[in-house]
Amino acid sequence: MAENLNPFEIVQQQISEAAKYLNLDPAIEAVLREPKRVLTVTFPVKMDDGTTRVFTGIRAQHNDAIGPYKGGIRFHPDVTVDEVKALAMWMTFKCGVVGLPYGGGKGGVICNPKELSQGELERISRGYIEGIAAIIGPDQDIPAPDVYTNAQIMAWMMDEYSRLQGTNQFGVMTGKPIIVGGSLGRDKATAQGCVFVVIKAAEKLGLDLNGATVAIQGYGNAGSQAAFLLDKLGCKVVAVSDSRGGIYNEEGLELEALYQHKTATRSCINFPGSQPLTNAELLELPVDILIPAALENQITAENAARVKARIVAEAANGPTTPEASRILYENGTTVIPDILANAGGVTVSYFEWVQNLMNYYWSEEEVYEKLQVNMFKAFAQVYATSQEHQVDLRTAAFIVAIKRVADAIKIRGIV
Ligand code: GLU
Repeated sequence: MAENLNPFEIVQQQISEAAKYLNLDPAIEAVLREPKRVLTVTFPVKMDDGTTRVFTGIRAQHNDAIGPYKGGIRFHPDVTVDEVKALAMWMTFKCGVVGLPYGGGKGGVICNPKELSQGELERISRGYIEGIAAIIGPDQDIPAPDVYTNAQIMAWMMDEYSRLQGTNQFGVMTGKPIIVGGSLGRDKATAQGCVFVVIKAAEKLGLDLNGATVAIQGYGNAGSQAAFLLDKLGCKVVAVSDSRGGIYNEEGLELEALYQHKTATRSCINFPGSQPLTNAELLELPVDILIPAALENQITAENAARVKARIVAEAANGPTTPEASRILYENGTTVIPDILANAGGVTVSYFEWVQNLMNYYWSEEEVYEKLQVNMFKAFAQVYATSQEHQVDLRTAAFIVAIKRVADAIKIRGIV
């Protein structure tokens, strides 16, 4: 039978798996298996050529027992309702695992940003926010960047929401530019959080990061920043890729030059002094650390047995299927699951929101210090839970997160 690659059904499976170890009230499990609200909107956008196109956007809100819904918005041609629902659910558990006072939400707009001008992107951003404005807000649901969205897009969205409310509402979005309420360190936060947990996993395995080899699938915001940070720790980044393909240099890639090449050509491919390789080949390289930092369902039952890395740190959401997770666990690979490995982004989003609410801004050092404390603590708790129940880190992370959300649901009397 073909493997189930529907992310919504995958997250439901992950919930059931962890529920077994928690003796979870079936009514709470039933609540957690579905998002509380999914809103689909369509909106017309004037294109540069004078035509008008109608776009579709989605916002899913999974659970707000612990606090307002929180999670990014992605712009991608392949966005589906089930994908956005799954991503919202992963956000609930991500916030749960690092102990943030948030629930989970996620948004998506079906579009291809690579074919859109800045003006078109701005009008799409504003049209989408107008469509979902009734269900978001600093106390209700706080979006942020995700795949192919960035600080500029957050600025337009925050501005549109503020315009509709008639007052500045910096706290409605995170991942904004610094000048309009962004937090120092937010741009590198996902990568930094990921590196903090890689440090801890390497310690547990006795793997020296100095000289350790790294492959990164997805040379976007998280992937490119993770490359720099790991390089600083002495790692050798030998391969990276993006949607157009990958590059490899066994001696290690020249990262500054690569970053400039990517900025200039909008891709990492054809980087001088490197060999081409496919995204699929990159996942199977004989490296110490593999970082999937792109999209869902990259490591599947089909290729998991050929993954050679000792540590897989999931900077992306949902890159490994349940069947692949099982194979990796049996092969002794340490997989740091997405809801832990990429939680640095939402953690600094939380710091940004707190700074917006206080109107008092922190130094970059303060942000990273607090991020490190949170990530180390979450890793230790997940690791201890995995030892206690003899399960992989993903199941352990779900156990930690579901317990928090379930306790809130119970104590509030929702179930
Ligand atoms: N999109 C990021 C994620 O998947 C960040 C979400 C946020 O900062 O709210 O975790």
